[in-house]
Amino acid sequence: MKSVKTICVHAGTLFDNVTKGVTSPIYTSTSYAYLDLDEAVYPRYYNIPNTKGVGEKIAALEQAEAGMVFSSGMAAITTTLLTFLRSGDHAVFQTGLYGGTFNFVARELDSFGIESDIARDNEPATLESLVRANTKLIYIETPSNPLLLITDIRAVGKLAKKHKLVSVIDNTFASPVNQNPIPLGIDIVIHSATKYLGGHSDICAGALACSNEHMGRIRKMALSLGGSLNAQTVYLLERSMKTLALRMEQQNRNAGLIAEWLSAQKEVRRVYYPGLKDHPGHETAKKQMNGFGGMLTFELKTADPVQFQDKLKLIRPSVSLGGVDSIICAPALTSHRHLSEAEKTGEGITDGLLRLSVGIEDPDDIINDLEQAL
Ligand code: PLP
Repeated sequence: MKSVKTICVHAGTLFDNVTKGVTSPIYTSTSYAYLDLDEAVYPRYYNIPNTKGVGEKIAALEQAEAGMVFSSGMAAITTTLLTFLRSGDHAVFQTGLYGGTFNFVARELDSFGIESDIARDNEPATLESLVRANTKLIYIETPSNPLLLITDIRAVGKLAKKHKLVSVIDNTFASPVNQNPIPLGIDIVIHSATKYLGGHSDICAGALACSNEHMGRIRKMALSLGGSLNAQTVYLLERSMKTLALRMEQQNRNAGLIAEWLSAQKEVRRVYYPGLKDHPGHETAKKQMNGFGGMLTFELKTADPVQFQDKLKLIRPSVSLGGVDSIICAPALTSHRHLSEAEKTGEGITDGLLRLSVGIEDPDDIINDLEQAL
């Protein structure tokens, strides 16, 4: 299967031996026979058929040897960090991390004896300057949340190999349709599957793809941390991922049109979208992305951002992202609310910033809604 659309539909589908039905059966059991098996099957061992099937789909989409499904994006992120970082180690993180990741890095890692640096910008030279003798891992997130900053994935892959670091990327904002970091040199790709992979704002899940070797280590830690997902939700994730490529096609197109339109509005101070020619990461994004994604952020000039959201009729002010419905939020009040004022300033999070997760509706309807609210 070469085409991403075909992979979305078919990779990892379980064969129904009983009825020969087209869709994967759901294996709900938490107790499986063991006498004739080499490996015990159990949901928290991440090896029930549904979990393994969707793991194969994410691996195929990310061009990786192995894939794994978790109960949340944060379960995938924390399991990965705690697999490759031990007391006395150091890790380098880019700026513009998802708020939950930032929180874990800034407030929890040191309690495990792990040192870390969050870069002041995402230039490969800046990231490299933070590498020390005890650095074991480098972590990036591109496009980043909420400013859609672009980090040069190839350059980070290269510097990670030079310094023998495990390289990790949060690929949530791009989705595997728009960006595949493994062929660009990154070791481990993580997704909050709650977002585009789930795609309908109704499931919480995480996913990860990497080599068999790295997966062996991650699985060992994952069994202890226990962030596995139940079969019913794994099945919903599989069902959603069948339409991932189609949804992304429409969301890429819609976001591009809306970003152009917002850029022309005099009430809007600035639009952040990697598809816009004036975006500082546009040229790099063109080299590493197949599409610019469905996320965009903009800043209002004078209008009150809360009143603006209240006036919207179609676009719902609500948290999270990546679903078929267009939703909007102010990062200062949502994903980044736990940050101190100084941390928010450092991350470029102003009160007037609004992050739009563009859905699959008709773009004219989304633009009309923004226009009447403006
Ligand atoms: N990474 C990004 C970019 C996110 O936006 C989120 C959630 O908003 C996460 C990770 C965490 O994922 P989850 O909420 O599924 O744990």
